[in-house]
Amino acid sequence: MNRTAIRTLQRFLADNDRYRGKIDGIRGPKTLAAVNASLQTHADRLPDGAERWSDRRRAIACLQLACREKRIEVGPIDGLWGPQTEYAVDVLATLQETGSKPAPWRDQAPQDANPNGWYREAELEQTLGSPTRKPPMVVVPCPWKLALAWDLNTCPSGIGCHEQVADSLARILDRAHDHYGPQRLKELGLHRYGGCYNKRRKRGGTRWSTHAWGLAIDWDPAHNKLKWGRDRARLARPEYDTWWRLWEEEGWVSLGRTRNFDWMHVQAARL
Ligand SMILES: [Zn+2]
Repeated sequence: MNRTAIRTLQRFLADNDRYRGKIDGIRGPKTLAAVNASLQTHADRLPDGAERWSDRRRAIACLQLACREKRIEVGPIDGLWGPQTEYAVDVLATLQETGSKPAPWRDQAPQDANPNGWYREAELEQTLGSPTRKPPMVVVPCPWKLALAWDLNTCPSGIGCHEQVADSLARILDRAHDHYGPQRLKELGLHRYGGCYNKRRKRGGTRWSTHAWGLAIDWDPAHNKLKWGRDRARLARPEYDTWWRLWEEEGWVSLGRTRNFDWMHVQAARL
């Protein structure tokens, strides 16, 4: 249970008039008192021995009850932070923030539209030439403030990409900005820019990376590591559904959405 989850808990307690403290994600005495009051009224739903649970476990149980109240499948009220609870609490957080539950991602197959006619990865060397020569590049300005993921004090003015994908990229960035707004984009970590053009081979592979043509962009690499799957990668969460839809409508491919690894990465090339 992290700070985000504790904020979700505090919001639930506040909505039920049990908590008037700050929504700060810190499990302090006021939060604890509200948890205990809340659990007392639902004592019939708790297993025997729950009164001896640790404060942390009681806080988790309270979140589980909050999920159940909203008909979010959470499993047994056991005060344990397993994957089902974690996912359910994520859904609860989205419900609190947006007023509705996230669309189920398993039902949303990534779109395979390709309106811009992006090449397949295997064709790139023939069509765009060898990346040993630097491709023709354009800097696309970003409508929200970017920061280099590995040096957040450095703020690039835009994204340097292959000129063939620049118009598409500009449309996507505009739409993302319109949809989320700069504040939300920052909260989502989408200001953490992980780079585009980079003359290199694929990590863990021998072929050229799509980055070597300036056709791929990495977002928030620290929270979306190469080998992480849906269970860990931040960009796999439901609040990023629209983000990904905007890319997919333009034919870009998310490796996370299609292969469930490298969630930081999106590319204007077919697999
Ligand atoms: Zn990448």
